[in-house]
Amino acid sequence: VSIRECSINDLIMAVLSFSAAMLRKQEVKVQLHLDPKLPKILADTEKLKQVFVNIIVNAAEAMPSGGNLDITTSQTDDIVIVSLSDTGEGISGGDIHRIFDPFFTTKQAGTGLGLSISYQSIKLHGGMIDVDSTPYNGTTFTIKLPVTP
Ligand code: ADP
Ligand code: MG
Repeated sequence: VSIRECSINDLIMAVLSFSAAMLRKQEVKVQLHLDPKLPKILADTEKLKQVFVNIIVNAAEAMPSGGNLDITTSQTDDIVIVSLSDTGEGISGGDIHRIFDPFFTTKQAGTGLGLSISYQSIKLHGGMIDVDSTPYNGTTFTIKLPVTP
């Protein structure tokens, strides 16, 4: 692991720029609300990038006929908050408690590993990840990361 000082806003922009073709193809419109005063945090940038890739790919897969992805960053005290909200198919009440379990997938060719790895990465940073979803309406992932782990 390599822990460095990093800007979550820059990290999100980097992930979006290499996901741009995929998002365009899926007709996903991205709305960004990035707090310009967000403090830098100490983090393993490669691990955090992978977390955002996993969540953004899942969002695109939940919106096969297009939709919106809203990404917001904010802060309270010494915590940076990232919320990623899609207008996709949502998660049923029966599934929502299992999505962070290794190998849980509802997809034909899914591995079910993306969110379990993401959960571990966020825990490793001393943070937390939460989900809130309404079937047929959309899903929001909220990630909270301490400025210093
Ligand atoms: P995979 O993408 O390989 O299925 P993940 O761990 O990334 O594995 O996700 C696990 C499951 O959580 C998915 O199969 C899906 O049922 C659900 N899920 C994750 N993100 C979303 C989302 N944005 N909208 C709807 N369902 C989601
Ligand atoms: Mg996935």
